[in-house]
Amino acid sequence: MTASSHVFATYAQPDIEFVRGEGVRLYDAQGNTFMDLTSGIAVNSLGHAHPHLVDALKSQAETLWHTSNLFKVPGREKLADRLCEATFADRVFFTNSGAEALEAAIKTARRYHFAKGNPERIDIITFEGAFHGRTLATIAAGGQAKYLEGFGPKAPGFIQVPFGDHDALHAAIGETTAGILIEPVQGEGGIRSVPNQCLRGLRELCDKHGILLIYDEVQTGVGRTGKLFAHEWAGENGEAAPDIMAIAKGIGGGFPVGACLATEEAAAPMIVGTHGTTFGGNPLAMAVGNAVLDIVLEDGFLEEVRRKSLVMQQILAELVDTYPDLLEDTRGKGLLLGMKAKIPNTDIIAAFRSEGLLSVAAGDNVVRLLPPLVITEDELREARDLMVRGLEAIRNKNS
Ligand SMILES: *Cc1c(COP(=O)(O)O)cnc(C)c1O
Repeated sequence: MTASSHVFATYAQPDIEFVRGEGVRLYDAQGNTFMDLTSGIAVNSLGHAHPHLVDALKSQAETLWHTSNLFKVPGREKLADRLCEATFADRVFFTNSGAEALEAAIKTARRYHFAKGNPERIDIITFEGAFHGRTLATIAAGGQAKYLEGFGPKAPGFIQVPFGDHDALHAAIGETTAGILIEPVQGEGGIRSVPNQCLRGLRELCDKHGILLIYDEVQTGVGRTGKLFAHEWAGENGEAAPDIMAIAKGIGGGFPVGACLATEEAAAPMIVGTHGTTFGGNPLAMAVGNAVLDIVLEDGFLEEVRRKSLVMQQILAELVDTYPDLLEDTRGKGLLLGMKAKIPNTDIIAAFRSEGLLSVAAGDNVVRLLPPLVITEDELREARDLMVRGLEAIRNKNS
């Protein structure tokens, strides 16, 4: 009993505790207000305490919390119907997190080939800089040494190629390949977008080799990039549609929800008994997931996200122009945006936090900005003013 905290020391946290949130704002116990451009790492897609989500969760909580997957859950059928109606998918498996959604995606891809009489097809090709979660399989998929170290042998069946290296990708495909797994925009890896023609090219490549295209849209999905799913930027008519897709984060708006979406063909071998979860798809989670879709699928909602994205991109471009000593470039799509820093990104994040604005680090020395999708233009301008103050403070300190 000597530890100052009894929580695992896995997270290095600044010393702030929030007690309340509303929209884009978070409040601490001392009454300080922060603009939250982390959105719980792309989770609070509709901001904090959105009335429609609060109502949905409250009324479900008063009715029924949990029954398990021994029984049908009406909200689960409804959310699956709506996700399939809005995407390439025909089937959905619900989980509690992104990593679990990826696990389901990986299992589905392997089982697909197993059922076709090709059990040797187990390899999933992934890309350097990828992040797919922290389970044993997903750290192998992500391939990052810092996440693999000390946790025993790397799970077999994952082959990594450099981001954007077409020759290496072609060379990696062989007799044991099951599929290709990719984030349409790398989130943790530094807001690196895969060009639209490359996503379409991946679709063609997978078709040519009879392997599966798997998207990790855990961070990019549910409106974050201004389309319902980021791969739609590469074609609204399925030109870059996957066979399998993992989602999470934004679909729960802050409640833990994930899902693996698949075509009928890819999901067909996932029959009774092949996979399961105790909590996934529970009534509370499904009530919130449906409530998120009520808003995100409203006419004009995504158009608004795209409009606000342009405002935000303009703001960030001006910051890079004004502070070339501190900032290198802007990147991203929709409201999944970032600025590559010329000084340590954590210094900029700390300076922003001192001014009351929260942002989050990403790979490649990027400052990641993930406003809630409901942020207003006035709030974006307010965020700009706070960022300017933070950058000025760094300059003054340096001079
Ligand atoms: C966050 C994230 C995950 C992991 O999700 P968890 O809910 O933390 O398990 C996987 N892939 C991507 C792209 C993510 O951003």
